[in-house]
Amino acid sequence: MSSAPELKATLTLPQTAFPMKANLPQNEPSRLKKWAEIGLYKKLREICTGRPSYLLHDGPPYANGPIHLGHALNKGLKDFVVKSKTMAGFDSPYVPGYDCHGLPIEIKVDEQLGRKKLEMPAPAVLEACRAYAQKYVDLQTQQFERIGCFGRWDQPYLTMSRDYEARTLEAFYGFLEKGFVYRGLKPVYWCIHDRTALAEAEVEYENHTSPSIYVRYALTSDPIALSPALSGRSVYTIIWTTTPWTIPASMAVAFHPDFEYVALAASGDPKNANSSSDPIYIVAAELASTVIAACKLGITTELGRFKGSQLEHTTFRHPFLERSILGVLGTYVTADQGTGAVHTAPSHGADDFYTGQRYSLDQTCRVDASGHLHADPQAWLLASPAPFEGLTVWKANPVIVAMLEERRALLAVSDLEHSYPHCWRCHNPVIFRATEQWFISLETPMKRPDGSETSFRQLTIEEIDKVVWDPAWGKDRITNMMATRPDWCISRQRIWGVPIAVFMCEGCNNPIIDPALDHKIVDLFEREGAEAWHTAAIADLLPAGTKCALCGNTAFRKETDILDVWFDSGTSWNAVCEADPDLREQYEAFREGHGPTVLYLEGGDQHRGWFHSSLLTSVGLRGRAPYSQCNTCGFTLDEQGRAMSKSLGNGVDPVDIAERMGGEIVRLWVASIDFREDMAASESLMARCAELYRKLRNTFRFLLGNLNGFDPARDRVAESELLPLDRYMLARTRDLTQKILGFYEAFEFHRVYHAVNEFAIVDLSSFYLDVLKDRMYTFAPTSAARRSAQTVLWQITEALVRLVAPILSFTADEVWEYLPKLANREESVHLALFPKPDEIFSENPVYLMNEWQVLFALRDAVLRAIEDFRKNKSIGKGLDVDLYFYADDVMYELLRKNGWNLPEFLKESFNVSKAYVHKADGALLNNLDQLANPPQGTEFPTNISGLRAFVVQASGHKCARCWNFMPEVSNYGIWQNVCTRCHNALKEMGIDPPSAADQDPPEAAA
Ligand SMILES: [Zn+2]
Ligand SMILES: [Zn+2]
Ligand SMILES: [Zn+2]
Repeated sequence: MSSAPELKATLTLPQTAFPMKANLPQNEPSRLKKWAEIGLYKKLREICTGRPSYLLHDGPPYANGPIHLGHALNKGLKDFVVKSKTMAGFDSPYVPGYDCHGLPIEIKVDEQLGRKKLEMPAPAVLEACRAYAQKYVDLQTQQFERIGCFGRWDQPYLTMSRDYEARTLEAFYGFLEKGFVYRGLKPVYWCIHDRTALAEAEVEYENHTSPSIYVRYALTSDPIALSPALSGRSVYTIIWTTTPWTIPASMAVAFHPDFEYVALAASGDPKNANSSSDPIYIVAAELASTVIAACKLGITTELGRFKGSQLEHTTFRHPFLERSILGVLGTYVTADQGTGAVHTAPSHGADDFYTGQRYSLDQTCRVDASGHLHADPQAWLLASPAPFEGLTVWKANPVIVAMLEERRALLAVSDLEHSYPHCWRCHNPVIFRATEQWFISLETPMKRPDGSETSFRQLTIEEIDKVVWDPAWGKDRITNMMATRPDWCISRQRIWGVPIAVFMCEGCNNPIIDPALDHKIVDLFEREGAEAWHTAAIADLLPAGTKCALCGNTAFRKETDILDVWFDSGTSWNAVCEADPDLREQYEAFREGHGPTVLYLEGGDQHRGWFHSSLLTSVGLRGRAPYSQCNTCGFTLDEQGRAMSKSLGNGVDPVDIAERMGGEIVRLWVASIDFREDMAASESLMARCAELYRKLRNTFRFLLGNLNGFDPARDRVAESELLPLDRYMLARTRDLTQKILGFYEAFEFHRVYHAVNEFAIVDLSSFYLDVLKDRMYTFAPTSAARRSAQTVLWQITEALVRLVAPILSFTADEVWEYLPKLANREESVHLALFPKPDEIFSENPVYLMNEWQVLFALRDAVLRAIEDFRKNKSIGKGLDVDLYFYADDVMYELLRKNGWNLPEFLKESFNVSKAYVHKADGALLNNLDQLANPPQGTEFPTNISGLRAFVVQASGHKCARCWNFMPEVSNYGIWQNVCTRCHNALKEMGIDPPSAADQDPPEAAA
């Protein structure tokens, strides 16, 4: 038996299978699987063939741990760029990379292998490092994919791959062959126990007891130059050091140019102060009293006072070597401790070394790798062999103290316990030692494209100028760094990296430079990887009879240093962009100057890192910058602006957020902030994103629910036939689309985020979707008015789903599956293009939107009035009232412009039962009482000139179906109190008036 529905069931409520609950942690992985199954990234590459290209070249993260929030931010932003460029009609491939060589991994592997490493052959150690890096390459890949980043994840570039290692070596040879490379000294931390250089990261500070000594150096230049009072006197300066073993390497004494120095006559006899035989000591004025006390100088008389700058180019005598010691200046000299006169051994300290360079001092290191001292044959005149010859630095200390004492140069000695650098591995104290390193000279002569002469440094600075830096301050930062940086030290005394694969002459210690040989070794690396350098015999690589071009020697050794990892990653434009089959054509077009944008997008610290090293290598080898644009993002901080750390427990783990809330929430967070600034993240900010996500999802669900039964091919209403309210929303959607496309273009993802939110919450939820309910639910589903609304809802959904797809990649793709079916629709939103504004709405939206400003102002006034009315008269909602408007000519015309049926239009826009509009021109508007039917109800302010408005309790009868108060209600079969409008709708729906017999049998009493 057929049964008539309940009256309520004749309403057309939204209906969709699109779930309200997202269940992102469960559903995202299945969507990832689906994308993998259909080969989405590969399909993207296919459909993009032939489009103009846009190349974002990935800066490789270091593969030594799981991803953290900074990684998620960086990859999220890159994904927004790649997806938005793709949807904007570009071919934008993304080949992710990983930085695999270098110290942090070697240290970790060292920890795992322990001292066993020292006995292991090099290839075995390399294999362990490779395995370690590969483990994190795999983990990070899985984590980046989990948060929805698209790319060639099955084939990322690895700086440790054979191809890449071969290309890195090739780039080094390029610099070597073009004359950029030289060998020179550089001071490094050195462990004499492990006989190795240590990086800053490998040095730990521990307490250590050192001999603290004060030593006097006799002035040998004319003291009158400093002060006439010093004429004819024995003048000294006093240095203080805790490393007596560096005294044999002493070449200079450094003074601060701006400090005041005093010349003190020191008398052992208080009754005979400043006798002409008293020695005179020059020390910093500020430190004089501590020096007097420490060295027990007794009664002192100040004989002169002068600026430290006056001491430059003075000379002193070394306390026990036949060597002149130069007075030099250094702003690093402090007044915290010591004497203000700093003993300078260029081969044993960083400041000392660079001072030595400025003053051309001897920088030769006479401490060998195992820490044994050797005398300078030029300067050793007192005895042979020197008493310290062959002693380790620690054993040499007391011997040298004794020598100083014997020469009456020692003024004081004591033990000092202080914090001192130690080796992280063997925990022995380390020393500073100048070692031979490989450098790329920034002053190498180069030619500009027009043939004019310049230097490597200058050409690099000129190239910076051609790049777009966003934010703009990046340009000054990198320019300043480039202008002042020292030569690039590219060698490391390590194993996990690309070997500096050159043969050194045993005779003159110079490298063989031979392009044919270099080519052969690059080929070898390509076949066998960097291990080959460790395993191949010299005889297999060097042609028989090879002679040194400089000295004719025939014995060679393999260099054992490796390249700085910044050289590896800095040549990725060469190893990847120029070599990868998926990128090389596009990159070549860029290099030839007519190609695409090449974008690098990394953290702000990369001005000294990857942006920097990439720029240097590309300018050096190709004469131009490797990119046309560099964008930088800030750091991730907690809500109080503190860095995230384990100890503070304020870290936000993107993997954990993805597992608990969804990768989409991480993405939404990335989009929510201006990445150019430092960005706050916390559990509560993530929860806020999750809340907003729910709202957006509900908006989509509501849109889809109202599209039920809508077939665009059949039901779409032509733009000219749309109802005014729908036209307005279409204009607004065009405006939104235009803005959002602009935001994507400018990488202003946070503006996309805010614009989408505002549209969903203000334009849709609070307005359009709300006022549409009457039409959508009560009108006949196929009625022209309802189809008009559906047409616009459909266009809004179609636009919105594409506009959010780069950010909400999972959800947009899910929404896509629930959209009304279309012929030839792409199988994923990610294969579709952004909407075109003029295809959404044909007119300039601005005029229509301006006209609507009046209506929105009026709507605000109406809502306030209804709210007041509700409080006073206890009505339930808007449908319980009628509105009366009295408008002058101008206002009337403006309202009427929205054509159609003005009362209907206002009724709907304000969501009330009825709205009446009367013309009341001129003085009449101020004297409405004179009207034949003067207005009833309560007047409320409209704040619009030429318009008065009144609100009254709705007249008529409440319709049982649509809840509007209507002039007339009557029975529709057994359904009572049905308004005329609903009568018509029911008829249009083909629902006959039901009789009692159609009713369901009464339900059994519960
Ligand atoms: Zn050590
Ligand atoms: Zn030679
Ligand atoms: Zn009705």
